[in-house]
Amino acid sequence: LVSRKKQPESTVIDVQGTLIGGGSQVMIAGPCSVESYEQLRTVASALKDAGIKVMRGGAFKPRTSPYDFQGLGIEGLKMLKEVADEFGLATISEIVHPAHIELAEQYIDIIQIGARNMQNFELLKAAGEANIPVLLKRGIAATLEEFVHAAEYIAVGGNSKVMLIERGIRTYEKWTRNTLDISAVPLLKQETHLPVLVDVSHSTGRKDILLPCAKAALAAGADGIMAEVHPDPQTALSDAAQQLDIPQFQQLWEGILQSGLFA
Ligand code: PEP
Ligand code: MN
Repeated sequence: LVSRKKQPESTVIDVQGTLIGGGSQVMIAGPCSVESYEQLRTVASALKDAGIKVMRGGAFKPRTSPYDFQGLGIEGLKMLKEVADEFGLATISEIVHPAHIELAEQYIDIIQIGARNMQNFELLKAAGEANIPVLLKRGIAATLEEFVHAAEYIAVGGNSKVMLIERGIRTYEKWTRNTLDISAVPLLKQETHLPVLVDVSHSTGRKDILLPCAKAALAAGADGIMAEVHPDPQTALSDAAQQLDIPQFQQLWEGILQSGLFA
């Protein structure tokens, strides 16, 4: 169902009036985790001023260590919705369990399925029954074929509003958190008709090379970019090392707009 051989036209996904795919690109930004109203309002206000339409914020956090911040759960989703509504933004947040689908439909506009759950087949099947778009992250060590099969699970369930996002894969390289696989962008666009995005924050784990990585992604045909932004990254409860502060984000966004690569 996701194959471009079966459907030559690119899928275009409408998220509250923001189109993604088929030549329309999207910038998704926001904190790694939802932490407080104040944190979200500060970010939402900056995003709104910058003309960004989709805010991210994790409420269910699939952390590598059980001792790390696990997210605010349902309360976090409610906070995200309240602040997004206040600022007129659409939202994306990760869910980690099939039982979260109804919550997602109630509180957010796009379901994120995280890298660690790319092959959680029961979650993929549940997302296939959801009536909102799904952004599927590439698994930490997933081949592109595995990635596409995972997307197919969602489509087979009846949800054709699927987007893919390259977020880096694990290699021997230590200077980046993961290795951004730019070749995934043209390959996934060639093999599928789905929008393909690039997460420059989780792929690099850095703040200093996001602009060239975002430009490379867009030049390779990406339909959107995701980046993490926090009002005070040093105090962030997750991914403190890679989140941009607001001026850094504004600089990234200006650089992307000036590149002429963003539609
Ligand atoms: C995230 O985007 O919040 C996240 C946890 O990313 P990933 O699943 O790509 O590690
Ligand atoms: Mn993160």
